[in-house]
Amino acid sequence: MSADCIFCKIAIGDIPSKKIYEDEDIIVINDIHPIAPVHFLIVPKLHIESLLSCEEQHQTLLGKMLRLAPQLAKEQGLPGFRTMINTGHEGGQEVFHLHMHVFGGGNKLPKT
Ligand code: 5GP
Ligand code: ZN
Repeated sequence: MSADCIFCKIAIGDIPSKKIYEDEDIIVINDIHPIAPVHFLIVPKLHIESLLSCEEQHQTLLGKMLRLAPQLAKEQGLPGFRTMINTGHEGGQEVFHLHMHVFGGGNKLPKT
């Protein structure tokens, strides 16, 4: 838990949100500013700043995040989807609590 972190606050319920999935390690929420018809965020409850801060001990958690993407995409009826993890300022990261974007629901995603 990091005191100023928006995703930590959402994870512990300090900021109310509609979670589309939750277990002991992970929450999944719809992005507040979606850029695709379906756009959700897979967020570990543990405060990890970014992929740059991940270590061997986080391997299982990272695998779990990846496995959740197709599971939740299927539940939402998506035949395919795109994932994105912005990492560091240079990588376009704005919220410094690790999260994976999942996009789908249309064929308007840019090709790169
Ligand atoms: P990134 O750090 O990967 O650039 O993106 C952060 C994402 O979090 C953005 O797409 C932004 O719309 C989303 N976001 C920022 N604050 C909130 C929030 O309070 N609730 C939700 N659901 N999404 C948020
Ligand atoms: Zn956090």
